[in-house]
Amino acid sequence: MKIIDSHCHYNLEPLYSGRKENEENLQASETTWSSHWQRAQEMGVCGSLIVGTNLHTSQLALEIAATEPQLLAAVGIHPSEAVSLLDQWGEADAGGQLNQQLETLSKMSEQASAIGEMGLDYYWLTDSEAKAQAIELQKQLFIGQIRVAAAKSLPVSIHVRDREVPEIPTPNNAYWDALAIIKSELTADLPVIFHCISGPLNYIKEINTLGGYIGVAANVTYPNAETIRTAVAAASPEHILLETDAPYLPPQGYRGKTCEPWMVAETATYLKQEMRLKPEQLLENTIRLFPQFNSGASLL
Ligand SMILES: [Zn+2]
Repeated sequence: MKIIDSHCHYNLEPLYSGRKENEENLQASETTWSSHWQRAQEMGVCGSLIVGTNLHTSQLALEIAATEPQLLAAVGIHPSEAVSLLDQWGEADAGGQLNQQLETLSKMSEQASAIGEMGLDYYWLTDSEAKAQAIELQKQLFIGQIRVAAAKSLPVSIHVRDREVPEIPTPNNAYWDALAIIKSELTADLPVIFHCISGPLNYIKEINTLGGYIGVAANVTYPNAETIRTAVAAASPEHILLETDAPYLPPQGYRGKTCEPWMVAETATYLKQEMRLKPEQLLENTIRLFPQFNSGASLL
């Protein structure tokens, strides 16, 4: 089985250096990103898109990708960074800081294969005044990054999360706000990947209609993930991609542990056995979006 992981974070801890977040002084670990990549290859992984979450981790993604032709980098700023900017700079200055970051990101995109992850995440927003400010800034950050991607003709990797999953378009809901932004900003040739798909079924149907790609992670294997399985069953098989989102979201048998990049093989097996999705089809879909994966090694 040949697998390409379309969304993975070798650039985040504990995968990158083996340290846990905030454990700067620990001795360097034996288990660094390259040993995870080695292990993943032994399980059939022959390529991976390493996805940035802020300027620092995007830079790390570029550095890792530069060492190995089968590793590609996406540079992007996660929506939660908008909340950090507000906390750090206040409402008056956060927008200016955000624009500076977008400028830097645009320069970094010269070496990238995709832009992301970007999107909207209202999951942790509760206080109503702070929520309104954060939503506004998240939208600004999202739109800014779609425009960087459109200018460079690079695919976008989108993260969307919210507590509510309403089946009808609802204002101030991350799923429906994201869809509205995509519809207004989408240009003819801009491939969009909705990574780690979740959300109401009607929203997912709209993504299908728009020709968006759906990234399926190991949470499809969870017993209560009926909505995700229904969404995957409803999606066109030509628009489904496989991903780990490692170090997050381990498959059912490994819950509570760090998700390691090799575990994408578990998800591939599940999709083949339980959902009749052929690994060859998923591989072909990823190479259609990222032909670079097939130029270093002949995978098809
Ligand atoms: Zn991610």
